[in-house]
Amino acid sequence: MKSYDVAIIGSGPGGYVAAIRCAQLGMKTALIEKYSTLGGTCLNVGCIPSKAMLSSSHHYEEATKHFEEHGIEIPGDIKVNLEKMIARKQAVVDQTTGGIDFLMKKNKIDVFEGLGSFKDATHIIIDGKDAGEIEAKNAIIATGSKPSNLPFIELDKERVITSTEALELKEIPKHLMIIGGGVIGLELGQVYRRLGAEVTVIEYMDRILPTMDAGLSKELNKVFKKAKCNMMVSHKVKSVERKKGEVIIKAENKKGEEVEFKGDYCLVSVGRRPYTDGLNAEAAGVKINDKGQVEVNDHLQTSASNIYAIGDVVRGAMLAHKAEEEGVMVAEQLAGQKPHIDYNLIPGVVYTWPEVAAVGKTEEELKEAGTEYKVGQFPFRALGRARASGDIDGFVKILADKTTDEVLGVHMIGARCADLIAEAVTAMEFRASAEDIARYSHAHPTFAEAIKEAALAATEDRALHI
Ligand code: FAD
Ligand code: NAD
Repeated sequence: MKSYDVAIIGSGPGGYVAAIRCAQLGMKTALIEKYSTLGGTCLNVGCIPSKAMLSSSHHYEEATKHFEEHGIEIPGDIKVNLEKMIARKQAVVDQTTGGIDFLMKKNKIDVFEGLGSFKDATHIIIDGKDAGEIEAKNAIIATGSKPSNLPFIELDKERVITSTEALELKEIPKHLMIIGGGVIGLELGQVYRRLGAEVTVIEYMDRILPTMDAGLSKELNKVFKKAKCNMMVSHKVKSVERKKGEVIIKAENKKGEEVEFKGDYCLVSVGRRPYTDGLNAEAAGVKINDKGQVEVNDHLQTSASNIYAIGDVVRGAMLAHKAEEEGVMVAEQLAGQKPHIDYNLIPGVVYTWPEVAAVGKTEEELKEAGTEYKVGQFPFRALGRARASGDIDGFVKILADKTTDEVLGVHMIGARCADLIAEAVTAMEFRASAEDIARYSHAHPTFAEAIKEAALAATEDRALHI
């Protein structure tokens, strides 16, 4: 039987990054993945394919709606070839997952294809192509998550679908109804709206993106409404019924009235659940909590002292970069180091256009904690760079401590915010004050100038260009 210093179950961004870091630190490492491609949800049916579809549909929208104002004229009709768009998405996925194969070989990590399940705390049985048993001194559970569902919905995966099927559709829906106005619903809703579908978003809470700063929800809601999406907040879905090519959703509005929606597709995007099916965690003494998460302490150690868990399968945000940080943290701990993650500084991004990005505390959280804070906000429309490219929607908002001026939260919506948020994370990692950000130089003309201006506004209400 092969024996390892560490075996990692699951090859998503948590698992494969943990494997690389373990190997870099000199550990004999095994990676077990039940599917034939590595990369988990993120690379196969999550981050990467959804961003490929967002990019393609964005190009289409630019070509059909905005090229003309830039003086670019395309004779004849501009058409979408969905099959080709999806094939391109798949090519991007294949190239990216292939890259992980290369990284595993480069780092001399043994990859096993098959379902990994614990026999006991130091033995894992592999069921699948590479069937067998391995011994491991330590293990890392990185088994990720699967889409959640509502108890009364039957996901037929043809018309009543999850994000996985939404990335593989054979036709553009006539009317895509989306249950859940969170990250997946909005990103994929925007893809199909751009491609010509009517889109209805049905959200249970009183605003979309309910966990983000309310200012961002409001601004993105405006953008979706401008694109003629039907935004039905405060609607509780009661039933979903499929009748051949039609799906009928019944929901209850704020007044308690029944509202009916009819369309040809229904995307259920009401969150994801941790995935531990078939893992046989009990055999290793690993406790699973009531939410289905693997229970871990601050060191990501489970109730079995040689077994750790990371990523979507444990508490916290279900984000690829959070999973990666945790993978690195566990590897470094196993090597005797003392790494640390500041969860407050894990940024959240929604890759719609305009992009939405945030780090640190929201206004709602600061109010609830009784923290006195000041706000500096700057609109993109006041930036030369934004006007030059025609991306004027959105703003940057900086929240700083009222007495110390330390930046406590940065919330932004606008062009390129997914990348701009990195500046806010860096500043907050170094515990910058708003004045610090206001005083360092930002290249002109850039979208990043909105951060400087918002910091100036937070410092002494002295933004320069508004
Ligand atoms: P996963 O990526 O879920 O990987 C777990 C792996 O474990 C899977 O490959 C699974 O097959 C394998 N596995 C499970 N059980 C076993 C077993 N017993 N034996 C062997 N293998 C097993 N996050 C972002 O940060 N940015 C984004 O833009 C983003 N976009 C997303 C878009 C969509 C449509 C979706 C669905 C998710 C998106 N996410 C995004 C979330 C992101 O994909 C997850 O947070 C991330 O993949 C979690 O990584 P993980 O390693 O914990 O688990
Ligand atoms: P989510 O938690 O972002 O959104 C789910 C939404 O569904 C919430 O707004 C919630 O209020 C709503 N909801 C729940 N029950 C409902 C009901 N009965 N009726 C109507 N609405 C209901 O979850 P998601 O969009 O499914 O995404 C799952 C996970 O994947 C998230 O945790 C997210 O972090 C991750 N993800 C991240 C990205 C990104 O980082 N860009 C992209 C996609 C997915």
